[in-house]
Amino acid sequence: MERTLSIVKPDGVGKNLIGKVIKRFEKNGLRIAALKMLKLSKDDAKGFYIVHKERPFYESLTSFMSEGPIVVMVVEGENAINKVRESMGATNPKDAAPGTIRADFASDIEHNIVHGSDSKESASYEIPFFFSSLEIQ
Ligand code: UDP
Ligand code: MG
Repeated sequence: MERTLSIVKPDGVGKNLIGKVIKRFEKNGLRIAALKMLKLSKDDAKGFYIVHKERPFYESLTSFMSEGPIVVMVVEGENAINKVRESMGATNPKDAAPGTIRADFASDIEHNIVHGSDSKESASYEIPFFFSSLEIQ
């Protein structure tokens, strides 16, 4: 059993895709163990994406991620990290496999609808960034 952190990004919430994203995970055999909607400040977004602080897209990404509400969730199941990443598709929707969330809904490499932890190490930073142990069922 494994846990991962997923986010429906501001573009996904704006396009009314919260339910569709959750449905993809549930259809993939995963369960939602925690979920809430919130809005990040620019500083919150910078903290969440601190691993990307040297990347050229850091400023733009953190502005985008703080421009509107997001839905954050803990997704649980066997191989949850890889299963969520598979459901998401590649970062750039142009490269994302057909039938993935990003291939179906994302408009460009930045506005790509969904986030998922990329490793156990990332998940162990990202889950407690948003949730206390009492909030995970
Ligand atoms: N991103 C971007 N330009 C890039 C690469 C990434 O705007 O060239 C954004 C995009 O929203 C991506 C996020 O930064 O989802 C984090 O990048 P990462 O490489 O971790 O991609 P992910 O793990 O989300 O597929
Ligand atoms: Mg990533």
